[in-house]
Amino acid sequence: MSFAGRLEAELEQFRKDGVYKRLNYLEAPQAARTKMQGRGEVVILSSNNYLGLCNEPAVVAAGKHALDQFGAGTGSVRFICGTFTIHRELEQALARFVGCESSLTYVSCWNANEGLCPTLLGEQDIVISDQLNHASIIDSIRLAKTITKCQTAVYRHSDMADLRDKLRAAKDARLKLIFTDGVFSMEGDIARLPDIVALAREHDAVVAVDDSHATGVLGRSGRGSAEHYGMLGHVDIITSTLGKALGGAAGGFTAGPAVLVDYLTQRSRPQLFSNALPPTVAASALAAVGYLERHPALVTRLHEHARYFRERLIALGFNPLPGETPIVPVILGETAQAIRMSELLLDEGVFVTGFGYPVVPQGHARLRCQLSAAHTRDDLDFALSAFKMVGTKLGLI
Ligand code: PLP
Repeated sequence: MSFAGRLEAELEQFRKDGVYKRLNYLEAPQAARTKMQGRGEVVILSSNNYLGLCNEPAVVAAGKHALDQFGAGTGSVRFICGTFTIHRELEQALARFVGCESSLTYVSCWNANEGLCPTLLGEQDIVISDQLNHASIIDSIRLAKTITKCQTAVYRHSDMADLRDKLRAAKDARLKLIFTDGVFSMEGDIARLPDIVALAREHDAVVAVDDSHATGVLGRSGRGSAEHYGMLGHVDIITSTLGKALGGAAGGFTAGPAVLVDYLTQRSRPQLFSNALPPTVAASALAAVGYLERHPALVTRLHEHARYFRERLIALGFNPLPGETPIVPVILGETAQAIRMSELLLDEGVFVTGFGYPVVPQGHARLRCQLSAAHTRDDLDFALSAFKMVGTKLGLI
């Protein structure tokens, strides 16, 4: 079979299995409501634009200004052709915001994660990872294992007894790195950081938390999972994204002690061999951090919306996973059911994506609803009446 023929056959199988993804094109910014090509106005319940900063005028203006000041491109990687001052400003602001000494930006959190494990771990070291960690952490670990032959272990999701067992079994390792999501993106639950950090201290391990769904979301002022638990400054390493609550454009960062950031600057390959964030994006992200520092009420509003939406869904007869984050997953069972419901909701003007296997376990396909501070009560009520209509039609409520 030809190369193209083989790919086409596989794509056909994706269609048959109901896992083929169709892209929806937007003609307007990410916001509570946007314009979808061929659909008109839709309420978005599927975005990581948790604080509505994607289209915040101050964030957009900062990007425009940086375009004039620094131009469009970075020209090369930063140690070769220079680092813009806006990157330094952003890194200082991010470190301060998440309660760490220093930070280093990457073009994505995927890259920040991928730059961590292969750089820090060697043959005598082990990384111990939560079973439900994000794909970028899993791939970072796979890469590290292949390149450096480090040891790896996976503990059952948020199971502290299992983590303790894995730490005990790794007692002879030089570096024991525990890596967890701060908020698990498909479940919406929060990592048990106080227990994880306590276990780490007991077993002389280092904790890395990917706070991509927690930065701007958790804690009174949105500083993330550490603030949520009153543990700012107690997490060794934080990775996070600029592509969700903090303006939603692109970019990621690793924060921690200055010596770690220096080491990553010297050795992490996505940093050494890939361009820095475009200055426009760095400036927008910096403006997003400043905006959030001046408007912590956005976080309160986000959580009010999440509570309201969750309570009303339950009142309608749905059974979302319990939780206290703006990720509200509605479990529907089979993938086909999740996709069908997503399509029917879109017909009603509500955009929420269905997820099935292999992104989530078999039989646990779901709609993952995500709330935003940008929603109004009207938006939420509009979405809830669509859920009621579609849920009734499908016999779910
Ligand atoms: N880590 C987690 C937990 C995520 O949910 C995501 C994005 O979905 C990423 C990392 C990747 O972030 P980025 O888009 O900045 O690469």
